[in-house]
Amino acid sequence: NKRIATIGDAMVVFNPSKTGPLRFVPSFERAVGGAELNFAIGVTRLDMEAKWISCIGDDEFGKLIYNFARGEGIDVSHVLRTPHIPTSIYFKEIREDGAGKSFYYRNPSPLLELTEDRIDESVLDDVDLLHISGVYLAVCEHNIEVALKLIALAQAKNIPISFDPNLRLKLWTIEDARAVYEKVYPSINLLLTGQDEFELLFEGRTVKDVQECYKIDEIIVKKGEQGATVYTATEQYDRKAFSIRAIDTVGAGDAFDAAYVYSYLNGDDIGERLRLANGAGALVATIKGDNEGLPSLQELRQFIGDEKLIER
Ligand code: ATP
Repeated sequence: NKRIATIGDAMVVFNPSKTGPLRFVPSFERAVGGAELNFAIGVTRLDMEAKWISCIGDDEFGKLIYNFARGEGIDVSHVLRTPHIPTSIYFKEIREDGAGKSFYYRNPSPLLELTEDRIDESVLDDVDLLHISGVYLAVCEHNIEVALKLIALAQAKNIPISFDPNLRLKLWTIEDARAVYEKVYPSINLLLTGQDEFELLFEGRTVKDVQECYKIDEIIVKKGEQGATVYTATEQYDRKAFSIRAIDTVGAGDAFDAAYVYSYLNGDDIGERLRLANGAGALVATIKGDNEGLPSLQELRQFIGDEKLIER
């Protein structure tokens, strides 16, 4: 079975009981989130293996996250725990149209304790793809070094690398993000980015230009309810989104990434990868929560119409 590795913070998420500004929300429902963990769950639900590298607080919320990740079948053998820093949390605000806003309490994040020297050289030995997200790069300054070390390890082993910039302007400035991402682009095989994000990051440069500049095999542009487009050096593939009523779009991008990477490692052609990824993104957008809607392979195949749904 194929296996991916990813690194990042996880948080206890507080989902609002109603839509609208946070100050008018009287109660919350507790869940677990974090872009990289969501990605790992997405891959695991699709029957591939995922190794999640992280550090969480040695506290009640840390135990909750650890048990949750284990329960999803994720390899947590590289998750450290620290007694010094509390597990990160965040509160979510959801607008009437399903768009979300996040309020983070993770300053510092337990990742502050996951320094480069604590990354085991053998961590990628049994891995088929390394996935890096920009959230991880933004959370602590030394994460950049850690990520570059993992990237170098992956390259030495010929392991493909996917990267989602997941730009979070609450965590750093666009200039800082650009400067760090510049170090990552030349090493990656797949760039999974949102359309607005691409425009912000590359300031009017064309996809072709970016692709040639950094020699990225595939640039995958996610376009919300418009679907997604993949650019290779020679071709362009457009696929429409599935038609759904969006309830909460947070996590749709992570779901898309997980399904795309799953399908890529499975050897599917680009059209099929896009179909699965659009399906996974749409399914997550129809359910409140960041990862609750991540489909199993069977649910995904039923949703995109490959299998008939038999309810009983
Ligand atoms: P985020 O990082 O906030 O999750 P993103 O920019 O990475 O967002 P989006 O483009 O919002 O990702 O969504 C990812 C994918 O999920 C889209 O390409 C699409 O396939 C699917 N998707 C998202 N929103 C919708 C929607 N309203 N209707 C149908 N599909 C959607």
